[in-house]
Amino acid sequence: MKKLIKQARRLAKRYRISDGEGFKLKQVDPGDMAGFDADDKEAGQEALQQGVEVLTRLQDMLYAQDRWAVLLIFQAMDAAGKDGAIKHVMSGVNPQGCEVAAFKAPTSEDLDHDYLWRCMKRLPERGRIGIFNRSYYEETLVVRVHPEILAKQKLPGTLVTDDIWKERYQDIRTFERYLSRNGIVVRKFFLHVSKKEQRRRFLERLDRPEKNWKFSAADLAERSFWDDYMEAYEDMVRRTATPEAPWYVVPADNKWFTRLVVAAAVIDALADLDLRYPKVTAEQQRALAAARRDLGGSAKRSARRKS
Ligand code: ATP
Ligand code: MG
Repeated sequence: MKKLIKQARRLAKRYRISDGEGFKLKQVDPGDMAGFDADDKEAGQEALQQGVEVLTRLQDMLYAQDRWAVLLIFQAMDAAGKDGAIKHVMSGVNPQGCEVAAFKAPTSEDLDHDYLWRCMKRLPERGRIGIFNRSYYEETLVVRVHPEILAKQKLPGTLVTDDIWKERYQDIRTFERYLSRNGIVVRKFFLHVSKKEQRRRFLERLDRPEKNWKFSAADLAERSFWDDYMEAYEDMVRRTATPEAPWYVVPADNKWFTRLVVAAAVIDALADLDLRYPKVTAEQQRALAAARRDLGGSAKRSARRKS
């Protein structure tokens, strides 16, 4: 397990941005595979399987210890593989200790509140892993790319100035610092897919009947704003990557590699915590011994089972 954690840490580090200053999206190639062979899907899948097993063991302790919570935020262009990454990386974890929240266009009730409101309601409890499939970061992405969306938010006019994006980044940074100071560990993933690979995946959704349901004309419309989105993503990483809430800019042109990096980053985050099973007190030990007697079990038998 130690060796696997070490490997995971090394892989995660390669894509982690803890200080956004000067970050350029160009620094990360969507097709990068950190030396893995693109055709060696089998080796990648085996590594992912091992990663999932490590994750399962760490999550079990997170849940039992009931002190820390972990919030994983996923942002990406359409078809970058958010859903698949969430599904595969979390495949081994106990569903009781994990909750996924997907944030779509806000409802009228959402718009009657500040933009963090709907997200705060879905923050993970202690001991749990919370996953945001999209998040309050949309407030600096789709809302920035489409000024008409901002116009429909019921903000007092005097508050909508040229500084609004700078202010949102600032508020988000402060919010995430608040979370981390409360024992909620925040890790953010931008799955960075290339425009070319997105085209290929859209065509696949059109060509394969079992994938037709995934295609949406709206996704195609957003594709035409590609450059604006890339600028917004770059600025987002620059302004909101911090040591307590880093961004992982994950190459997303190869699905299995994306999943491997996400798993590695989650392992890295969990391995940083002082996770351990709660210690049983002397009094609890006595109660356990009494229960064992009541069940007709002997101390000897339990000792034998342990070894
Ligand atoms: P999938 O297509 O795989 O089901 P998805 O996350 O793309 O997943 P959709 O329902 O297709 O889900 O899209 C959600 C849409 O909601 C996205 O276009 C996103 O930009 C938009 N959205 C999310 N948050 C906001 C927000 N705060 N303001 C406006 N639009 C938002
Ligand atoms: Mg969609």
